[in-house]
Amino acid sequence: MSIKDKSGWARPAVLLNPLAGDPTDADSHIGGPMLWPIDEPWPWCDGTRHDPQSPGVPGADIAGIGMPFVGAVQLYRRDFPELPFPAGTDVLQVFLCTLHHDLDDCYGPDVRLVWRDSASVVELIEEEPEPPVQEEIYTPTVNALEPIRFTDYAHSFDRPEELRDADWPETSSGTKIGGWTCWWQTGPMDFECRECGTAQRQMLSLATHEPSGDHVEWEFGREGNLNIFTCPKDVHHPIRLWID
Ligand SMILES: [Zn+2]
Ligand SMILES: [Zn+2]
Repeated sequence: MSIKDKSGWARPAVLLNPLAGDPTDADSHIGGPMLWPIDEPWPWCDGTRHDPQSPGVPGADIAGIGMPFVGAVQLYRRDFPELPFPAGTDVLQVFLCTLHHDLDDCYGPDVRLVWRDSASVVELIEEEPEPPVQEEIYTPTVNALEPIRFTDYAHSFDRPEELRDADWPETSSGTKIGGWTCWWQTGPMDFECRECGTAQRQMLSLATHEPSGDHVEWEFGREGNLNIFTCPKDVHHPIRLWID
């Protein structure tokens, strides 16, 4: 492949395209109810990386205080077959601990991914635990999704110098699966899997601003994106977060 071949710098991507709705646990969504079995412990943050200076919760000493994660995104395979579902799973659940954390040069909410077989969930949790304090800027509103498939082009930061000025479509800064990182205040960066050394890939990006204008009303960094990188060899290897 010639370095000037544009196709080498194009990746398939899916904009989640959130919009106000009333999704159930059986739907893909942002901020709606999660399909969670009654007999499984809810994701829990031990609080060891909490920033005690959390500005949204003045006076609350949250350092070292455990908190439940908040259901943030749920994506079914039938709607998003592009996701790297491990065998036997058909739903990806993304949870945020909605407080400030100091995570390896990344300052923001912590993230847990759960890959689940929806058919194995028989009885649902009665009520999702709610953290006693949250940073409002990390708490999603409830949204249904109307996905848009598109081709995402590498950001000029990621392209070799002779292609920096090429007249290509801009890397999408919306909430998306796949594609390229929309570097803004930092970058470009490469991340290696801490378990096996493989180059990680951006799997999911959560955006402050949506191209549609229907924002989820959360904010990451300075109106940026929370980018989630996973290992292409095994999505259960440690994830990497980068807010930009
Ligand atoms: Zn936490
Ligand atoms: Zn790995």
